[in-house]
Amino acid sequence: MRILVTGGAGFLGSHLCDRLLADGNEVVCLDNLFTGSKANIAHLATNTNFEFVRHDIIDPFKYEVDQIYNLACPASPPHYQYNPIKTTKTSVMGAINCLGLAKRVRARVFQASTSEVYGDPAVHPQPESYWGNVNPIGKRSCYDEGKRCAETLFFDYHRENKVDIRVVRIFNTYGPRMHPNDGRVVSNFIVQALKGENITIYGDGQQTRSFCYVDDLIEGFIRLMDQTETVGPINIGNPGEFTMLELAENVLKITKSKSKIVHKPLPSDDPRQRKPDITLAKKYLKWEPKVPLAEGLKRTITYFKTKV
Ligand code: NAD
Ligand code: UDP
Repeated sequence: MRILVTGGAGFLGSHLCDRLLADGNEVVCLDNLFTGSKANIAHLATNTNFEFVRHDIIDPFKYEVDQIYNLACPASPPHYQYNPIKTTKTSVMGAINCLGLAKRVRARVFQASTSEVYGDPAVHPQPESYWGNVNPIGKRSCYDEGKRCAETLFFDYHRENKVDIRVVRIFNTYGPRMHPNDGRVVSNFIVQALKGENITIYGDGQQTRSFCYVDDLIEGFIRLMDQTETVGPINIGNPGEFTMLELAENVLKITKSKSKIVHKPLPSDDPRQRKPDITLAKKYLKWEPKVPLAEGLKRTITYFKTKV
């Protein structure tokens, strides 16, 4: 198949391009390189099945493709809050442009949505049926509400225009090719530990997240896209739940770093807890994560040792 991956030069997008090419597909990678980089896809430059296009998804584009994976959007809080209006435009207009193309060329189209649609969840763990608890006017809203509106657009195009959609809600994912300075917790802690700098825990460190290793996530993407039982939304994430303090301790143990833990103010609207209910992924995709946190952290630390 010919497959378009928007955001293909980013952390998740570049792993997805690798996997799609390994499966024998042709890949068009569309990216404006805001948070992604050519370095993430440099190893693909000589692959004749791979094509990179520098383009912003808020402007329309046309490609004859069989499938579209829409991943274009900054994902780390400092990056998506850098230009919040642009973040909302990227989610909403990017979704409209992907859906318009999918409608025209009859391609199946996949949306990378997020656990952020659940906001600061009052239901724990979060099933797909939970409608969420999102502040519509806070600093995270540009991302959360942009992604919620994108889901709305996907389901309206599906109902109104019979567009063949798939929607995944991704929970915190980590692994090689995360940007060392993108401000997310796993990359921050690893870089700080490797450099011997203080480990910055925001708040008391008792807030929880569930961390999925990138290879597990990409397997879930492919399984969702290549089946016809469900269009989603479907949670893909690792139900193992850790406090930020536990994450810091894990990173310190594996890196054998002497870094000290320090506490910094908690950003506004920071969700207190997050853990996916993956019943639907197990049922429809026969998917569950395989890589435990300690193993995934080891692989990620090995990567970051070559970068810092
Ligand atoms: P990333 O920042 O590494 O990748 C995003 C990519 O999109 C980058 O290459 C960036 O340059 C590109 N991009 C941003 N705005 C664009 C625009 N207007 N036009 C074209 N390209 C644009 O982040 P990631 O972690 O790889 O996330 C990929 C997708 O998965 C995002 O949509 C994100 O919201 C979603 N997601 C990721 C996570 C996670 O834990 N990594 C969790 C939930 C959802
Ligand atoms: N966090 C932290 N120290 C850091 C970066 C993040 O304690 O250096 C916390 C952050 O406040 C949040 C959690 O780690 O509670 C996950 O943050 P991240 O930005 O990775 O993802 P998100 O909040 O979007 O889930």
